[in-house]
Amino acid sequence: MNKIEHIGIAVKDLKSSNILFEKLLGVAHYKEEEVLAEGVKTSFFKSGPNKIELLEATNPDSPIAKFLDKKGEGVHHIAFAVEDIVAEIARLKQEGFTVLNETPKKGADNKLVAFLHPKTTNGVLIELCQEI
Ligand code: ZN
Repeated sequence: MNKIEHIGIAVKDLKSSNILFEKLLGVAHYKEEEVLAEGVKTSFFKSGPNKIELLEATNPDSPIAKFLDKKGEGVHHIAFAVEDIVAEIARLKQEGFTVLNETPKKGADNKLVAFLHPKTTNGVLIELCQEI
């Protein structure tokens, strides 16, 4: 695994959170994107070398809606950049991690993504992402 690619934060209302993070980081979000298959609308901020992804649910069955119901707003996942997501999934499976989607799927911001179940990662949802 390489550097932390971004940190994902679950929010109730993307519009007001965009304003909040713009004030916090001193920079406007550079992108908004909806991932229909995941029931999520995202926005991205860059702060120096760091990237923050805000996630809002677009329907009640969205994983983000479920997360908000259970835990409220807050850090939702940490994403690591990987060079070969297929090889990394195979390696992590062998190490005993539970991979939520063994076939990488298309995520936001032009990435192939896969997630590790938080049960096997000390309660933190881990995203692997590979630039397409
Ligand atoms: Zn993410």
